[in-house]
Amino acid sequence: MAPYAIRVFGDPVLTQRAAEVDDLNGALVRLADDMLTTMYDAPGLGLAAPQVGVQKRLFVYDAGDGPRVIVNPTIAESRGEWLYEEGCLSVPGLSWDIVRPKEIHLTGYDLEGREVSVEADELLARLFQHELDHLDGVLLLERLDDDQRKDAMRTLRERTLADPAASSRERADAAPGGLRLP
Ligand code: ZN
Repeated sequence: MAPYAIRVFGDPVLTQRAAEVDDLNGALVRLADDMLTTMYDAPGLGLAAPQVGVQKRLFVYDAGDGPRVIVNPTIAESRGEWLYEEGCLSVPGLSWDIVRPKEIHLTGYDLEGREVSVEADELLARLFQHELDHLDGVLLLERLDDDQRKDAMRTLRERTLADPAASSRERADAAPGGLRLP
């Protein structure tokens, strides 16, 4: 059982800018642990604190090299363009082709306060940009073009009208085979 329920579209916590972390303490370590458990359980490649209702600038991810935690991340530089079909655990069951920079340089801190600097390309760069958006209160839906957004809003509205509980079930159904970006 995951420690947290992942917040989904419509929850106001997903549209607010999260606050800088100014104290690296045991509570933050426990939060990161619980976020990782929730992420693996989903399953997903990354998870930002606002997705579990915590307004702190922190995200976790595992791009295949084991669990990582980044605190107070910043994108120092970005280059190129890359099209990728992107989804979000907070907008379950939907995904869209989205263009974003192909390479980024991410800086931040780990849980011990050591500086972290990562040159990321393609999927990892996409994951970082997606998580950074969550920390800024930006959902994937804001990255869509007008037509994509209209379709998305119609689908989400119909889903809510048809069955308010549908989105959480859809998440469970869609997760194993579906798209598993953050
Ligand atoms: Zn997301």
